[in-house]
Amino acid sequence: MSTARLTINLDALVTNWRNLDAKTNCETAAVVKANGYGLDSGRVATALAKAGARNFFVAAAEEGVALRRALGPGPGISVFSGHMEGDTKLLREFQLAPMLNSLDQMLRHFESLPGHAFGVQLDSGMNRLGMEPAEWAAVRDIALGQNPVLLMSHLACADEPDHAMNAQQLNVFHEMTDGIEVPRSLSATGGILLGPDYHFDLCRPGIGLYGGQPFGDAVPVVTLDLPVIQTRDLMPGETVGYGNTWTAARPSRIATVAAGYADGLPRAMTNGGLSAYAGDTPCPVVGRISMDLITIDITDLGEDPAMLTLLNEVQTVDTLADAAGTIGYEILTSMGRRYARTYQG
Ligand SMILES: *Cc1c(COP(=O)(O)O)cnc(C)c1O
Repeated sequence: MSTARLTINLDALVTNWRNLDAKTNCETAAVVKANGYGLDSGRVATALAKAGARNFFVAAAEEGVALRRALGPGPGISVFSGHMEGDTKLLREFQLAPMLNSLDQMLRHFESLPGHAFGVQLDSGMNRLGMEPAEWAAVRDIALGQNPVLLMSHLACADEPDHAMNAQQLNVFHEMTDGIEVPRSLSATGGILLGPDYHFDLCRPGIGLYGGQPFGDAVPVVTLDLPVIQTRDLMPGETVGYGNTWTAARPSRIATVAAGYADGLPRAMTNGGLSAYAGDTPCPVVGRISMDLITIDITDLGEDPAMLTLLNEVQTVDTLADAAGTIGYEILTSMGRRYARTYQG
C-alpha cells in the first residue's frame, strides 16, 4: 500500500450532529454540499439520517441527484443555488427543493414546476445569494401564495461572535420574515453557537459536523495516515527537498511519506511547524511539500515507522489550515482523490 489512508469516523460525525442539535430547541438539518465537505455526501447523509436528521442541503441540483440516489425517498433535500435553467427535470425527478434566490428563479419555478416544494433565500446583508429586502417586499405575497417550505438567510460573520454584523443580519431577517407562518432558518455552525436568538425553526450546520472550527467542541472526524516509502540518514549540512529549504543541523534521519499538494495538502503549509505523528510522538515536517511526497525528521523517534499520521485528534484540519493560512473547510474539501478511504461506524 503506497497511497495515504483517510479514515472517516462516521460515529464522530453523528456525535457532532447530536451535540449541535442539543444546543437548540429547533430542527437540526445537515449541509452536505461539495460531496459532504469532501467526505462522501451519500455516506455522511446516510449516517446522519439514521441518527435522525430529516433535511439535507446541497449547493447544486446535481449534488442533490447523487444524494437522493444514496438516501432514497423520504429525507428532504434542498438546493442553495435555487432553480437554475436546466434544473427543472432534476428537481422534479429527484424531489429536490430549490431555495429560490431571485424573481427570475421564482417565475421559472412557478411556471415549470407548479406545486413543487421550494424555499426562499433572503439576503440579510451578505450580498451573495438571495432576495434583497425591496425585491422580497415586491414578490412576497405571490411567493407566500405558493406555500414555501422554508425562508432562509445566511450569516457572513457568525464565526466571530462579537461582530456587529451578526445582530444586524438578525434584525434584517426579522424585518423580512416576522409574522409569516413559514419555517425559518438563519444559522449554520457559527450561528448555532451565537445562541437561541439565531436558531429559529431549523439550523443548517456543515463544518461542525465534520469536526471543524468554529465548533470548538467538535470531535475530529478524519484521520490521515501516510505510508513511509523510504528512510535515510543525513550528515549535518545536508539538505532536504526542493529549494534546499531545510538543512540538517545534526546527524538526522528522514522519512519520506506518500502524500503531497496533489492530495490537497497545501504547499503553503511547508513552514507551518507541522508534525507527522508516530503514535503519540510528533515528528517535524521538514523541507518543502512536493506534489506526492512529504519529508519528516524522525531522528528523535529512534525507529523507522511504517506510517506517519498527519491528521489525528491533536493535529486537526484546522491545525493544517492555520499552517497554510486557510480554513478547515478548504482542507477538507480538497482531500485527495487518491487516498484510500475507510469509513468507520
Ligand atoms: C455552507 C453553508 C452552510 C453551512 O455552513 P457551515 O459554516 O459549514 O456550518 C449553511 N448555509 C449556507 C447557505 C451555506 O452556504
